[in-house]
Amino acid sequence: MPPSFRRSGFVAPLHALRLLERGLLGCGLPDARRAVDEALVLAGDAAWCMRCGVPLAHAPCMPVVMRVGQGPRCAACEARPRFDAFIRLGSYRAPLDGLVRRAKEHAWHAALAQLGWRLGDEVHHRLQLTRDGVVVVPIPTSPWRRLRRGTDHANELALGVAARLQLPHVRALHMGGFARQAGLGRRERLLRAGRMVLRARAAARMKGCGVLLVDDIRTTGATLDEARRLLEGAGAAWVAPSVACVAEIA
Ligand SMILES: [Zn+2]
Repeated sequence: MPPSFRRSGFVAPLHALRLLERGLLGCGLPDARRAVDEALVLAGDAAWCMRCGVPLAHAPCMPVVMRVGQGPRCAACEARPRFDAFIRLGSYRAPLDGLVRRAKEHAWHAALAQLGWRLGDEVHHRLQLTRDGVVVVPIPTSPWRRLRRGTDHANELALGVAARLQLPHVRALHMGGFARQAGLGRRERLLRAGRMVLRARAAARMKGCGVLLVDDIRTTGATLDEARRLLEGAGAAWVAPSVACVAEIA
């Protein structure tokens, strides 16, 4: 079972209010472990591209354990691999989509911890990793969204992944305001992509590291790309997104 995770100070009062609200309305959330188990049994995809996460129709079966950079690829990634590796729990469809939405919109901490733990399991079973030089980094959420939802969902998933794999968890990225690129110095440009900012102190830790980049959903992958660029710019050896689910874009 995943341990219970510490929450940041300003989120806890909101969480307490939500618990009270659920108690008063008598609509408690179901058992997280069972809900996640059921969603993942039904999510079971056969195979996906190990470089971008899209489902593959023609891979007969997924190799059990792969090194970073190995594994089946989609046609687009055959020409130009998008990431060094890609781990996922399933496609963004019922019942996994509803579970992930519910977990983040209702600040369902137990389900986020459980999903993170299971994502760590998937990384463990798919990727041959040494524990040295690998860190877990969450995709950042804006302060406004964090406050509104009462949770930093990607961070809670990342804590579950880090706990399962016994790896360091580093909040290396945060969402800053937009800044005019023209007004930035070279160093600041290296630390910023759109609204996403790589913390200067964390950037120094990324040199030579492998990074498991954690988020709940991959839609176009643009956010993961921005994070990858920043982390590679800081000298990360490889970047492997690890997400709960992948939306299938027609
Ligand atoms: Zn691909």
